[in-house]
Amino acid sequence: MMSNDLPPILVSACLMGEPCRYDGKDYPCPAAQNLADTRTLIPICPEVMAGLPTPRTCAELQPDGRVIDADGVDRTAAFEAGAHEAVRIAREHDCKQAILKSKSPSCGKGLVYDGTFSGTLVPGMGKTAQALIDAGIEVLSENDCADLQS
Ligand code: SF4
Repeated sequence: MMSNDLPPILVSACLMGEPCRYDGKDYPCPAAQNLADTRTLIPICPEVMAGLPTPRTCAELQPDGRVIDADGVDRTAAFEAGAHEAVRIAREHDCKQAILKSKSPSCGKGLVYDGTFSGTLVPGMGKTAQALIDAGIEVLSENDCADLQS
């Protein structure tokens, strides 16, 4: 990946074509991938970094902040561990920005599924998105790539 003097950008690995989603698929985003021509991109998958398998049971944020999977298993600790690791990597590489996959209970910014596994979106923040923002890193979704300086 080509780089310049601008700081590296953290990117959800599924946007870069990694098949790391809960269903074993990727979610390739050409706009994010094209940034690699001019910026150093650092792919991360917080859920995989936390040791969760792929594929894995779908999980959603609950109104009380826990993350519960569709089998009723509490995955909060793993999602928080993944968020912590994402912040550590961002700091290690001096990232100022992150491009994260929308709607995910880890990576989603602004909108997440409501915890009922019914496809209903509500305002909210994924665990990693919130942790990165708390660490002072600007979080964008894959829909905001055009806003990035290249
Ligand atoms: S945790 Fe983030 S990077 Fe990993 S599959 Fe989900 S949205 Fe993609």
